[in-house]
Amino acid sequence: MLLGVIADDLTGATDVALILAREGMKVVQTVGVPAAAAALPDADAVVVSLKSRTNAPDEAVAWSLAACEALLGAGAQQILFKYCSTFDSTDKGNIGPVTDALMHRLGARYTIACPAFPANGRSVFQGHLFIGSVLLSDSPMKDHPLTPMRDANLVRVLQPQTKLPVGLVPFATVEQGADAVRGAFEALAKDGPAIGVADAVTNEHLRTLGAAFAGEKLLTGGSGIALGLPENFRKKGMLSTKATDLTFTAPKGHTAILAGSCSVATRGQVADAKAKGVEAFEIDPIALAEKRLTAQHILDWAIPRLGAKPVLVYSTAEPDKVRAIQDRYGRDEAGAMVEHLLADVARGLATNGVRRLVVAGGETSGAVVAGLGVTMLEIGPEIDPGVPWTLAADGHPIALALKSGNFGTVDFFTKSLAMLG
Ligand code: ADP
Repeated sequence: MLLGVIADDLTGATDVALILAREGMKVVQTVGVPAAAAALPDADAVVVSLKSRTNAPDEAVAWSLAACEALLGAGAQQILFKYCSTFDSTDKGNIGPVTDALMHRLGARYTIACPAFPANGRSVFQGHLFIGSVLLSDSPMKDHPLTPMRDANLVRVLQPQTKLPVGLVPFATVEQGADAVRGAFEALAKDGPAIGVADAVTNEHLRTLGAAFAGEKLLTGGSGIALGLPENFRKKGMLSTKATDLTFTAPKGHTAILAGSCSVATRGQVADAKAKGVEAFEIDPIALAEKRLTAQHILDWAIPRLGAKPVLVYSTAEPDKVRAIQDRYGRDEAGAMVEHLLADVARGLATNGVRRLVVAGGETSGAVVAGLGVTMLEIGPEIDPGVPWTLAADGHPIALALKSGNFGTVDFFTKSLAMLG
């Protein structure tokens, strides 16, 4: 194994796994810390997906260190800590505390922090994160329920989260190439360990940053920062030049879509699928809380409809409706209630022959995959930037498209299923 990745959520893990696979690595994604290194299949990269983005920092650190040990135990030569391309975090973490702990464990003198992902409109310039053409702090992320991002200056955002000094490796340096970048990081770390936020506006910048970190123990960033890493190993003769074959044979069976994301993109995707005639069941969280709605009710509706066409079950709602539910039941409780329901529905659908399942929402995907008991995923073809089809790699006969809420074109649901033929 060459590269070990620790991802702070499931759909982010799938996203980085896809990038590495496209760049020619054989990649396996595990759900949670693998029980034993021996159980891991042969791979160039192993991506461990955690659910640690919004947990208490101590917990996120402990899980990340456990993942790091498992990856090192399996032979990883370099570790990448992968977080969201919108730098989702609070003053307490978890990007800073996890980075500190991993640097300490790996004895890294410096590391990079770069969430840029130009293919999805995330770029970093002069340390400021842009979402498309607007600053992070002017984007809808300013109102995120768990990690509101109200400052686009990543040096300023990261500094309170870490004991280490945070500096900037600016655009002009990145433009000069990998040697200049390495020089800038050396300068940042001249008086002791330090973290550098690096600018990147294009994939070329990300490849330069990757090249600058050849042989370094640790990188941190969005999935884009992985772009240049396989080439480092290829140059050393450790990776064959051949690109990985991402063709994919999905198991035959029924199809379904579960949407637990309330993000703008998912709201559009639910409306689009319904407009195209996909039969849909809307979850009423109040009925759920009052036990008038159970997974069995939804399965009783869905099972007779399973056939050539997909069915859609969604809790996706407009922000005012979500707020009303959160005010009534508590944000975390409301979220957990809907996540459990969708996990139970997923299990019931799989038992009744669903073999191709699209899931919208990062937390929702985590809950559904756990509910299905899937522990390992193989990466298949890309549907939209950052979202591949995956195949359960632990014997469960199911193909899964796990979509972070805001990813994907408006026709994502029907398009992804049509791709499988
Ligand atoms: P995203 O990727 O868009 O952030 P997630 O699945 O990560 O989506 O998060 C959405 C959260 O909102 C989940 O915890 C989900 O259970 C919760 N949720 C879904 N629908 C509703 C609703 N109608 N009211 C309140 N919370 C909801």
